[in-house]
Parts: sequence; C-alpha cells; structure tokens
Amino acid sequence: MNTRRLILSAVCLISLNFSGRGQNAFETYFEKKSLRVDFALSGNAEYQAAALLHIREEPLWGGPVCNLIDTFSYGGYYINVYDRATQALLYSRGFNTLFEEWRSTEQAGKETQSWTNSMSIPYPKREVTFELTGRSREDMRFYPLMKIDIDPSSIFIDRGKLHDNNVVRIQYAGDPSSKADLVFLGDGYTAAEQDKFLDDARSFAESLFNTPPFDARRNDFNVWAVELVSEESGTDVSGKGIFKHTALNSGFYTFGLDRYLTVPDIRPVRDAVWNVPCDAVFILVNTDMYGGGGMYNFYAIGTTGNERTKSIFAHEFGHSFAGLADEYFSSEVAYDEDFYHTGLEPWEPNITTLVDFGSKWQDLLPDGTPVPTPTEGYDGKTGVFEGGGYKAKGIYRPQDHCMMRDYAPFCPACSRAILRMIDFLSDKQSQQ
Ligand SMILES: [Zn+2]
Repeated sequence: MNTRRLILSAVCLISLNFSGRGQNAFETYFEKKSLRVDFALSGNAEYQAAALLHIREEPLWGGPVCNLIDTFSYGGYYINVYDRATQALLYSRGFNTLFEEWRSTEQAGKETQSWTNSMSIPYPKREVTFELTGRSREDMRFYPLMKIDIDPSSIFIDRGKLHDNNVVRIQYAGDPSSKADLVFLGDGYTAAEQDKFLDDARSFAESLFNTPPFDARRNDFNVWAVELVSEESGTDVSGKGIFKHTALNSGFYTFGLDRYLTVPDIRPVRDAVWNVPCDAVFILVNTDMYGGGGMYNFYAIGTTGNERTKSIFAHEFGHSFAGLADEYFSSEVAYDEDFYHTGLEPWEPNITTLVDFGSKWQDLLPDGTPVPTPTEGYDGKTGVFEGGGYKAKGIYRPQDHCMMRDYAPFCPACSRAILRMIDFLSDKQSQQ
C-alpha cells in the first residue's frame, strides 16, 4: 500500500452503507473513469417522463471518492446508483434542470416539450441499476422516473473520443478527487478571441476567490478553462432578432425573459468537459449585455463584459454550486406564483416557509431573535425576514441583504451551505 492510499484510508471511513463514505467502497465498485448518462425529460406543468438517450464512457473521474452518497437532498431530481446484485446504494447525487424551471412557466400550461439532460457517475466495475427520480411538488418527495440496468462492458456504451479542445489549468491545488473542480467554458469567443477567454476565466476565478466564504477555501479548488472556438462572437438575442453561431448556442430571452441567459441543450456543455475533471461548470459568454442564470449541479452562466458581471457570477454560482435560492421577491420572473408552495418546506438551504425551519438556519439565530424578524433594528443580523423566493409573503430569508437578494455579501446561511458543499466535493467530512 503506498503512502497516498494510506492517507486516503485514514481520512475516509470504511462503512459505505452507514455514512456513504468510503475509499474502500469506491475501489470495490468503481473505476476512476466516468459513465455519462444522457436522458430526455419531457412533459408539461402537469406531468413529466424520462427516457434514455445515450451512454458514454469518459476517461476521468474528478468527483469525490469518499463522499459517494449525497445527503443534501437538494434539487428537483436525484440519481441513485445501486449494485445490481445486492441493490445496495453505491452512489447518489441531486441536481436541478432548466426543464424543471420551464415547467413553472405559463407556456408549460399550454404545451408539452422535451429537454436534454446529462449526469455522470463514477464508472462501475460490475452491473449497476441507474435510477432517476423526480421530486413531486405535492409532497416534496422523490419518485422514480426511469430505472435501467447498466452492464459496464455493454457494446451499447459509446467509448469514443470527442473533440480534443485545449484545456488550460488556471489553478491546480491537488488531486481532483480531493478538490472541487471548477471548469470555465467560453461561448461566443472566436479563434482570435481565445486569449481574451483565458483572461476572462482568470479574472472571474480571482473575483470568486476574493468573495467570502470562497476566499478562505481557495486551496480546495482546481480551476480549469476549456477553449471552445465559436464561429461568431457574441450570443443569441432572439427577442431582437440576433442569432450567432456559437459553440454552445447560448442565448438571452429564455422563457421569453430578456435578461435570462442560458444554454438550452446541455449536451454540448457535457461534450466540452469530457476530458477534464469537473464538479462545477461556469459558462462565460462573450458579450457586454447584462444577464445570467444558474441551476443547481447543472451549470451557471454569465456575461463577461458588463460592469455588474462579477456580482452576477457569485450570485449564479451560488445557485449552481450550493443550491441557493433567490432571496429577492419583487423582480420580474417567468415562473408562476406557485413556484414555491408555502405549505411545504422548500429544499433550498437559504429560504424557509417555517414548515420545517429546524432543518434550515434556526441554529444560527441569536437568542431572543423574534420570528419573523422585523427589518428595523436587525440590519446585518441573522433572523427570519419575510420575503424571498419570488414571494413577498409566506417565504422567509436569513438576512435582510445577501448576494442571493441584492449582491450584498453572502449571509451566514448561504455561507454555511457553500462551505458544506466545498467540503463534500473536496471529499472532507463537513465540520460546518
Ligand atoms: Zn443568503
């Protein structure tokens, strides 16, 4: 046994079933490669269904090797991977999708659509059962949407290479399995603009590591930049008739909102990270327009030329990296007013309906804090302030101002959620 493995054994617990942690479990069941599963989610406001699209073998696994079971319970979806023979749970991970957001739009009340999605798991050594579950809005529980058995030696698994883009190390702190690997992808950068992309990626990485609480945890991150060449500079602005031929086909006017910038098809995003360790994707779009987006464990996206762009970056990364909800409640959004049901506890760690406040930041409240907390006299204090999650009534936020409301510093509840996610992805046992 070499020194490195001794160190890993010392920091990882062996019992997988009890804690979901264990280097031994990883070595028994997985190889350090990825199995990527692409699937379609189809439906409308009333129902959804899933179908398998494609399975690929990819050469790296940069995710945790100890923290195999995701205990956060964040997101609208979970994948669960079971050993086929024993049905023991080997791996799980929650995530959100753009499709889930679309289901809350007015359009989803009138028509049915199909959206692409993709998740990667460590490459299994033996047959596994891959289960996709979706969260019900009626009771917030997860129910099966798709269950397939996967034989890792199957001829139906695509083992081909994809385009060999130039991958640049922006920051390397250590073994990808014990670091959170942040990957920058550029959209709307032509071949002549690749140096600008790398400058933008370095600049955004610096701004992230100057933002608390990320500043204290810089050494828990590796940062990579994948050079993607677009035919044209810029991005789609469909509401103004502007369409650019770009690597990821990003665009504004998602769900009809002028500022909502997304990449609707996830597959070119996953194709771009096939040969780089990847725990989190941030897409930099080469335009000076204002806008962005971020979905938990899906991707975050922002523009590089706007003066407010660095704040947008931290806000959107809060969504995609740590599952944080918007704490604002007065701006225009495309979702219907039932995006959050005030009779149920939302899954995000930084908003509450008080249905199950004990599961949120109750332990962070100073003694004697009134619930709900008035804004007057409690400026800069942790409390339970009414308004958040697009609703002025019935949903509460942890501090009057926060990055997730108005680009103020992250509040204590958001900061703790970020630190817990850094611990999870860098394979530590959380002390937060
Ligand atoms: Zn917050």
